[in-house]
Formats: sequence, structure tokens, C-alpha cells
Amino acid sequence: MGLDPLGLEFESYSVPEVTEELRQQTGPAYRLNASTASGKMKIQSPSKSSSSEVLEEARALGDKVVLSKTDTSVVALALDLSKEGKTPIIVSDDYAVQNVAEALKLNYQSLATFGIRQKFNWVLYCPACFRKYSGEMQDCLVCGTKLKRKPIDKEAARQRSS
Ligand SMILES: [Zn+2]
Repeated sequence: MGLDPLGLEFESYSVPEVTEELRQQTGPAYRLNASTASGKMKIQSPSKSSSSEVLEEARALGDKVVLSKTDTSVVALALDLSKEGKTPIIVSDDYAVQNVAEALKLNYQSLATFGIRQKFNWVLYCPACFRKYSGEMQDCLVCGTKLKRKPIDKEAARQRSS
């Protein structure tokens, strides 16, 4: 959904099921590959014991909380990490994931409030000749004017993240 682990300042983890789900989508799959190749994101399967703990907790919360296999693995991996003494934050917009995370006293945030998407919603542009730039540039390569930043319109942002 536009999350770029390369832009994060801390270790990030995902599970094999997510890699599988993203295989169909060029943009996210590319970012995931780039992140895993750089060592910024680790793909790890959760332990069996954490997985069953998560499933048990979901069951205890009732019928309304339905976790997919992928979601179960994500929460279980977070549980593993917290048992290792880390303080993981689960990034998910899924209500069931958030509910189970809360029950297990794990931190979670929705993608919208995680503050990552902003990174992709800005573009550098030259106020004189209107050329657009990406990256960390200061001045326009063509006319030398100091670049400004503006939000990418929603349509462009949607296309970039698809
Ligand atoms: Zn210019």
C-alpha cells in the first residue's frame, strides 16, 4: 500500500505469506525485493507456538474477529519479536489485526497514521520551468532555480503505489 521499508529508520520484518501476496503487484513487490536485498527488511516465519497463541486469542475475541493466514502470521511474528525483547509495531489497517494485537498487548498503527505515506506524497518541482524532480536535490538542473516541494495529486499518488 505504498509502504517503503527502505525509507524506514528501523528494522522491519515481514512474513513469507506477504511476499506471496505481493508477487502479483509490480510496485510493492519491487520495493519489497529492494528492501530484502538491502537487508532492511527481514522475511521471517513466526514460531508455531506464537501462531497458536494468536489464533487462540482471535477465537477468544469472538466471531467478528477473523484473521487470514497472512494476518495471523504477521501478528504471530510480532509476538515472537516482543518475546525476544523487541518492541514491534504492527502496521495494518485491518480491524481484526488491530483487535488481536491489542488483546496481546502488541503495538500497532494504521498505515495512514504511521507517517510513511507522506514520503511518497510530495514531489520536488522547479517554480520557474516546472520540471519535476525526485530525490534530495536542491536546485533545478536546467535553470538553477531553488526547487520547491508540493503534494502529488491523489491520482498520481494512487498510480505510483499500484
Ligand atoms: Zn528550472
